[in-house]
Amino acid sequence: MKLIRFKIIYHLVLSLSVIYFIAVGSKETSANELDAKAIPVLSSAMASYCKKLDLQFKKFGWDKSECQSYDWIHVRNSVQGDPLAWTVFGDISDEEKPSFKQKDVSIIMCGVHGDEITPIKFCFDIMEYLKVTYADPEVAKRDFANKIVIVAPIVNPDAFFKVHPTRVNAHGVDVNRNFPTKDWARDARKLWMTKFKKDKRRNPGISANSEPEVVFQMNLIKRYGPDKIISVHSPLTMLDYDGPNTIVDGFVDGAKAHELLIQMSKDASDYKIENYPFFPGSLGNWAGKERDIPTYTLELPTSDPSRSAQYWKLFKSAIHNAIAHDLKEKSGAAAKVESDKSADASNTKKVLID
Ligand SMILES: [Zn+2]
Repeated sequence: MKLIRFKIIYHLVLSLSVIYFIAVGSKETSANELDAKAIPVLSSAMASYCKKLDLQFKKFGWDKSECQSYDWIHVRNSVQGDPLAWTVFGDISDEEKPSFKQKDVSIIMCGVHGDEITPIKFCFDIMEYLKVTYADPEVAKRDFANKIVIVAPIVNPDAFFKVHPTRVNAHGVDVNRNFPTKDWARDARKLWMTKFKKDKRRNPGISANSEPEVVFQMNLIKRYGPDKIISVHSPLTMLDYDGPNTIVDGFVDGAKAHELLIQMSKDASDYKIENYPFFPGSLGNWAGKERDIPTYTLELPTSDPSRSAQYWKLFKSAIHNAIAHDLKEKSGAAAKVESDKSADASNTKKVLID
């Protein structure tokens, strides 16, 4: 009798345990599913990149980057194997469809020169701001409807992650002098050897488009066909514009892009506008001059990391309004990139992958 009672109790306890574990287990599964939706799953490459980034942020006295909280897209790597990553704000689910072409796209790039420290924090400040702003239905509808923002916060990670960050990439090349502009073959190396006396900080490379960090920038532009590009540097304290210009070309499109230049300056306490010269192999030359994509180079006043908060405060509304400023009607840029895609069949594969 005792044995039967023991067996009944034993089975009862066992069954209850099984039911309990199934219940708790399934509860945990659904909680995990929710977490998976809320927190982007990082690739292992991005996870270690983000860890490394937080150490670097700490070194410069900045708050955590929140790098782990973004949805990153990462296709190619730097010379030393770090991800060349970007994140997107706005709905790009129709990227492959004609409707995407109706959207106004801004590309914002930072950290092209790794020793320009403040721009990198500046891009992460932009990302934090956009994360919050895009989540606010009222603002998103009012200012950012139909607006896509692509942010590539560290174009040249090898240079930034060094103990003593450098301007050039791991091959010793300036990735803002290596774009395959029409004047590259004729002028880039000659100018470097004569005017710049082989200055190691301005080495354009042995041949144009030889650096993965340059291919990365070009492919972002080819993939998304931006209506404007903002590239953030330091410490020249000025805003420079390359692209269509009414005053020179008589294009109506250029007027809108020029309007934005003036507006950005006004929004940032009349920040100085300067017409900085073109260089062979620069982004402004390749995207602005040769492809008519309004390209704004924002040079922050210093590379001093302790001033980052100050710079973000100064430019916050300029950046907001620049994104909101619709340049979509300026169809010239998109059309030019389009014809570029079909003309340059060898690039088609690259265009498709990143
Ligand atoms: Zn720079």
